[in-house]
Amino acid sequence: NASRLVGKTVIVTGASAGIGAATAILFAKGGSNIVLIARRKDAIDAVAQQCVTAHKQSDFATIQLDVSDKAQVATLWDKIPQDLRNVDILVNNAGFVLGVEHVGDIKDADVEAMFATNVLGLISVTQLFVRHFKERKTGHIINLSSVAGREPYAGGSIYTATKHAVHAFTASMMRELVNTPIRVTEIQPGMVETEFSIVRFRGDADAAKKVYDGLQPLVAEDIAEEIVWAASRPPHVNLAEVFVMPVNQA
Ligand code: NDP
Repeated sequence: NASRLVGKTVIVTGASAGIGAATAILFAKGGSNIVLIARRKDAIDAVAQQCVTAHKQSDFATIQLDVSDKAQVATLWDKIPQDLRNVDILVNNAGFVLGVEHVGDIKDADVEAMFATNVLGLISVTQLFVRHFKERKTGHIINLSSVAGREPYAGGSIYTATKHAVHAFTASMMRELVNTPIRVTEIQPGMVETEFSIVRFRGDADAAKKVYDGLQPLVAEDIAEEIVWAASRPPHVNLAEVFVMPVNQA
């Protein structure tokens, strides 16, 4: 029942584009208050504006922040406006893949960047809100893993390692939080057409587009719907894993 989300406060990381932006807008449509986080301030402000259009009564805030920077994450709580500090739901969505190189060819800086955001950044933000949720005796943590958190693929050794780490972290945390009112959900999308592919090919839009040849990819809204669905289940229902694939992706 979507009315369960009215007046809830949701934090979305990576809310400036793709799945995060679609998720923020869909929660806004359902009457939730949203804190949008990403590195590009103009882009999160533009998405927040769409949230306002979707639901004028709700509260929205944007926080420019790089989740891979521990010092910045340490300032996150203080940056959340007072009236948005009763956080109910955290969507850990910020993440990316850089390149399709085989192991010997991958640059150290790219390995570190992927782990810093996809794994260490997600963990730092989670730790902050787990403490908050324990105090509030409520909360829902929704982590974006991937089909790459289930299946390895050639050219994806580092990205799949980061997403397998997200899977292991999320599944273990869910067990740690059993018998608490805090829910934990892992979302595992297949191919979704977003800026993700453009980032993977370092800005080469043509190469990015070719990935979808012969395949109808998912769109960001498909994943947003799964996230909002998981968040709107009754409090005793924990949707532990949601694996969503395009019908023609093997
Ligand atoms: P996009 O590239 O469209 O969006 C990624 C978002 O993450 C952007 O808002 C970006 O904003 C933000 N972001 C990246 N790094 C950081 C950081 N260090 N700190 C804060 N924000 C950051 O990708 P998607 O929407 O497709 O991907 C979202 C999630 O879904 C990712 O975790 C991805 O791994 C996962 N996923 C995607 C799939 C796909 O095919 N698209 C498939 C399976 C999983 P900014 O640049 O402004 O910081």
